[in-house]
Amino acid sequence: MSDKMLKFVNIDLQNPPKRSVGERKQDFNEIYSEFINKKAKEQSSRCSQCGVPFCQVHCPLHNNIPDWLKLTAEGRLEEAHELAQSTNNMPEICGRICPQDRLCEGNCVIEQSGHGTVTIGSVEKYITDTAWTKGWIKPIRVKKEKDQSVGIIGAGPAGLACGEELRKSGFKVTIYDRYDRPGGLLIYGIPNFKLEKFVVERRTKLLKDSGIKFKQNFEVGKQATLDELKEKHDAILIATGVYKARNVDIEGVNLKNIFPAMDFLTASNRKGLGDQVKLFDDGILNAQNKKVVVVGGGDTAMDCVRTAVRQKAISVKCLYRRDRDNMPGSAREVSNAVEEGVEFLWLSSPNKFIGKQKVEEVEVTKMKLGEPDESGRKKPVIIKNSNYKLDADMVIKALGFDPEDIPKLFNSENLGISRWGTIKIDLKTMQTNLPGVFAAGDIVRGASLVVWAIRDGRDAAVQIEKYLNNINTKKEQAA
Ligand SMILES: Cc1cc2nc3c(=O)[nH]c(=O)nc-3n(C[C@H](O)[C@H](O)[C@H](O)COP(=O)(O)OP(=O)(O)OC[C@H]3O[C@@H](n4cnc5c(N)ncnc54)[C@H](O)[C@@H]3O)c2cc1C
Ligand code: SF4
Repeated sequence: MSDKMLKFVNIDLQNPPKRSVGERKQDFNEIYSEFINKKAKEQSSRCSQCGVPFCQVHCPLHNNIPDWLKLTAEGRLEEAHELAQSTNNMPEICGRICPQDRLCEGNCVIEQSGHGTVTIGSVEKYITDTAWTKGWIKPIRVKKEKDQSVGIIGAGPAGLACGEELRKSGFKVTIYDRYDRPGGLLIYGIPNFKLEKFVVERRTKLLKDSGIKFKQNFEVGKQATLDELKEKHDAILIATGVYKARNVDIEGVNLKNIFPAMDFLTASNRKGLGDQVKLFDDGILNAQNKKVVVVGGGDTAMDCVRTAVRQKAISVKCLYRRDRDNMPGSAREVSNAVEEGVEFLWLSSPNKFIGKQKVEEVEVTKMKLGEPDESGRKKPVIIKNSNYKLDADMVIKALGFDPEDIPKLFNSENLGISRWGTIKIDLKTMQTNLPGVFAAGDIVRGASLVVWAIRDGRDAAVQIEKYLNNINTKKEQAA
């Protein structure tokens, strides 16, 4: 064992410095500063190099965390980068936005023993950001391009990871996306203060420079059917994510100034990218000088409240029907929102939206937690006669997402889906019921995480390659 490790007894946990609340509320930039080299080395040296590393077990990509921490502690950053990128197509993105408290860091043994976790996410980000700065990250150079081509529908993390892996194996890859920019929710969902857009753009540029073709503003179902794409390619991956916003079925829901979360976040992200957004410029989708109420308790709700703070809302309140301990959103993001002045109304649910044309008030019902439901979580129960009213000029619904009707949209009614509308795949081959058509990411799992989308994209690439090799073998045998 290197004498550089196991320093957790003497060195305390330290995250990269967080910008002050006053400063970070003034802009949309990321809130954590960079680790300096000395700090990254020091923090990596806290790792206890467990024989069975639970951090690795609980990382969906099974990143070889103890080894890249050791290399970082020893100052061997280029090797650390090689190792980190061998299991992850976007380590600097995961380092920024994975809910580490629920994944790697939450399962770190020294965290469990009360010393405070190794700051795995920050080191992962540091290693790969350094690799970008030093020019160690280069486009893929395909020595001998294969004849076979794969069409990928969706340029989110699942589609991008799959495309990159297939390109490394020499396949021709075309990625189709209905948005004008690649990146999926990395670009139009997740706000800058968690993930600045240049970080995503340099990744997608790298893929373009690697010979992957991107067809933007191309909506499958409108510009082409699934069958038409199947004619063009030897295999297809569907990685379209989930976008149908869940609604609340209560009185007043159709009043003006009540918006789905993605409308609000997309407008804000587009403004950050320098686009003209009429509804924002007209003040409609801008929270400035408004009393904002956000309904929901997941990551999307946290992104909405913190965006509203930065747009200089008068007040930002978040209604969630369970309590803080039972929120689905990352605990770290809830703390950041509290620091930034968001008022959380736990155990509270909207009962009615009130107003003439535009929303003016929200009637709120108080809840308590009852018996666990089928998912094991305690069920919120209404407390009778507990209603009260809140002033509101803008309400944002962040209640989660369901899949769109993909078979109908793609004019492919025989594509198999689950009872939740997600695409059904064979879990071993990742193939749908249609031969040569695979699926990955949120459209298979339901709304999930970036790191799972990357994992699925990588797994799909392995299965697609197997499928294509098998077709080749059959052709060779027939010849
Ligand atoms: C607001 C918000 C915040 C989040 N924050 C986090 C976070 O902090 N950490 C985290 O790990 N996860 C977070 N997530 C979840 C994460 O973003 C998703 O799990 C992940 O992006 C899913 O990847 P995907 O590739 O499956 O789909 P997506 O990223 O949704 O990409 C799908 C792509 O498919 C395209 N598409 C859809 N239909 C068609 C069609 N018919 N034709 C062509 N293209 C099509 C879309 O335009 C899109 O670009 C967040 C999600 C949201 C909504
Ligand atoms: S990918 Fe996510 S879960 Fe895995 S090591 Fe990195 S931050 Fe942790």
